[in-house]
Amino acid sequence: MQSAWIDRDADAAVARYENLGRDLALRVYTTRLLGQDPRLVLHGGGNTSVKTRLADLNGEDVDVLCVKGSGWDMGAIEPAGLPAVRLAPLLKLRAREILSDEEMVRLQRANLIEPAAPNPSVEALLHAFIPHKFIDHTHSTAVLALTDQPDGEALCREVFGARVGYVPYLMPGFGLAKAAAEVFDADPSVEGLILVKHGIFSFGTEARQSYERMIALVTLAEQRLAKNRKPPSSAQNRRPARRGQRTSRRSFAAPAACRTTRSTAPGSALCSTSAATMR
Ligand SMILES: [Zn+2]
Repeated sequence: MQSAWIDRDADAAVARYENLGRDLALRVYTTRLLGQDPRLVLHGGGNTSVKTRLADLNGEDVDVLCVKGSGWDMGAIEPAGLPAVRLAPLLKLRAREILSDEEMVRLQRANLIEPAAPNPSVEALLHAFIPHKFIDHTHSTAVLALTDQPDGEALCREVFGARVGYVPYLMPGFGLAKAAAEVFDADPSVEGLILVKHGIFSFGTEARQSYERMIALVTLAEQRLAKNRKPPSSAQNRRPARRGQRTSRRSFAAPAACRTTRSTAPGSALCSTSAATMR
C-alpha cells in the first residue's frame, strides 16, 4: 500500500475546519483516507480518534477524546461524526472490574460535550486508555487474512515482530479496552496493536504518523500474503501432491468472516455490528 497523504489536501482540511482546530481537521482528513480504501475499511468497520482540548458549553477548555460516532461513514466523515467526550471520566473507568455495554454507553453519553452528538464508538474506551494523541483502527482485509488463520497470532508475530502488541480475542467493549491497554502498557514503544481475529490499531503523536504506520503495517501483511501466493516451485510441479496428501503450503484465502457481510462470526464486522446495537 502507498500512503495517500498529500500535504496540499491536509492543508486544505486545516483551512476548511479552521474554527475547530488543526487536531480535529487532520483527524477528519486521515479518517477519510482510511475510509475511502476498501482494503482497510468495509461496511462501516473501523474507527479513529484524537485527544485534544475543546471548549465545553460554558466556554471552558477541557481535555476530550474525539472518537468516531456510530452511524458515520469514515470515508465521508465530518467533524460532527467525531463526537467529543470528556477524557478524565473515561480514564477513571479503567479502575473498574466490570462495566456492561449499557452502562458504558450511558457514561459516555453523559460526558459528551454536545448532548445531541451520536453515540461514541463501542471501542471508545480502548481509544481513551491508549495514551497516544492519534489512534487509527481498521479491519484491514490483509491483516484479517493473517490473524483469522488457526495459528493467526503466531503468524502475525512472524510478520510484525515487536513493532506491535498482540491482544487476545474478546468482544469489543470494556473488557477488550482493558486488555488492549494492558498489552500496550507492557511495551509502550509499540506502533500499534493486533487484535487477534478482529483487526489492527496504529498510534502516533501526529495524524500523519498514525495513518502512515497503519499503511506500513498493512503493507507488511500484504507482502506476506503475496509471498504465499507465489506459484509452486518447479520441483513441486514435477511431483504434485497426491489426493489427500498434506503439503506444507498455507492457504491464505480470506476467512469466511471477511467474505461475508455483517457476519456474527469473529472478524471484520464485529465493531460495526456491536456499535449498531447502540445507535
Ligand atoms: Zn474493530
